[in-house]
Amino acid sequence: MRISIVSIGSELLIGHTVNTNLAFIGESLAREGYTVDREVCIPDVPDIIEKTFQEQLSLADLVISIGGLGPTRDDMTRVIGAKVTGAELRHRPEVLEHIKTYLGPRLSLVPEEALLTQSMVPENAEPLLNHNGTAPGLWCPRDERTLLLLPGPPRELRPMFTQKALPLIRQHGEPDSCRRSLTVYGIPEATVADRLESSVSFPENVEVAYCTRAGEVDIRLTAPPDMAVELEQLIEKIRELFGQAAVVDSVSLSEAVGKLLKEQNLHLALAESCTGGLIASAVVEPPGASAYFQGSIVCYSNDTKTKLLRVPEKEIDQFGAVSEPVARSMAAGALKTMNAETAIAITGIAGPAGGSKEKPVGLVFIATAVQEEIKVNQYNFSGNRERIRNRAVTTALNDLRLHLLKHRSEIT
Ligand code: AMP
Ligand code: MG
Repeated sequence: MRISIVSIGSELLIGHTVNTNLAFIGESLAREGYTVDREVCIPDVPDIIEKTFQEQLSLADLVISIGGLGPTRDDMTRVIGAKVTGAELRHRPEVLEHIKTYLGPRLSLVPEEALLTQSMVPENAEPLLNHNGTAPGLWCPRDERTLLLLPGPPRELRPMFTQKALPLIRQHGEPDSCRRSLTVYGIPEATVADRLESSVSFPENVEVAYCTRAGEVDIRLTAPPDMAVELEQLIEKIRELFGQAAVVDSVSLSEAVGKLLKEQNLHLALAESCTGGLIASAVVEPPGASAYFQGSIVCYSNDTKTKLLRVPEKEIDQFGAVSEPVARSMAAGALKTMNAETAIAITGIAGPAGGSKEKPVGLVFIATAVQEEIKVNQYNFSGNRERIRNRAVTTALNDLRLHLLKHRSEIT
């Protein structure tokens, strides 16, 4: 099944809204083994919308359109969708009823005309009722092809896509591939690729792709749909090759750390200088983090480091705030003040100012504590401030993950 996506909205083209719906649909379809051939982003201009629908329907079996289903005059997608699929718009009482039920006591606030507009459905189309808003999605067939119209607000689109659209798509066409992925932490992309390609041989119909982010490299395998078992075996081989540096499939680093903490019944405290709370923000991403996360002290000034984390003033004077001993003391202080068994402490120079010959921008000390043991690693990250801070977050979480793995192997 050839799939095109059409994102409609002038706000997307002027950078006012980020096209998160594309990312969501792309990821959902990829997970199911469907391939999106292309995406086109266009403004709210009727002529362009019509021409794009025609064009994409000539190229794809399924055209997924996002946006412009609202009740106002500039929301033209419904009318144009009906036109290009050669269908009359008809009033659908059951859709109107559903919208009224959805609105409940808010019904009186919405003009009658808006309700009628949104309950108009192309005669041969199937409405996808919206449980998080008023505009229904519309599954509109044209000969052997389909134009699927979805509402723009992500909180409406996401559940509708997962619950209503995906089942229809599955009925309509077989997946054309299967996919597995794995993330390697702390090893540069070129080294990852080199090691992988010199140790594992891939069948010709398995596509290997790399994607690098700060401090991590994704390895993505794509193969024909009947090769799920082979892919599983290949992923297992790659996991063995990279050992503890590898985390399999869509588990994030925060989830991997959270799992290890929960499993060993440990609690985590953070002391963040150069990341200013970014590690805490990553740690609380997985739901249920409160079971193991005690808190974070964002300690920028020396005063905060000595007062809240009990870092000896002497140490800061002698070695400087960005130093191995201070990172170590920050971790020890975080353990004590926040009553935790594990900690991450981070101190570094994110730049652009503040560097020196001995302590250049990008110098970061990361301490991880697990029970009594505190380890400190020194890093020299390159890049601008944002990149240095992002790499520091990934590296810190990965250092803790490795420390926890080592601890687990020692106690069992
Ligand atoms: P619309 O259905 O076009 O009226 O869009 C309603 C809301 O959804 C607006 O706030 C849009 O900015 C938002 N929206 C529309 N398309 C997208 C998209 N592709 N990604 C994220 N938000 C979107
Ligand atoms: Mg719009």
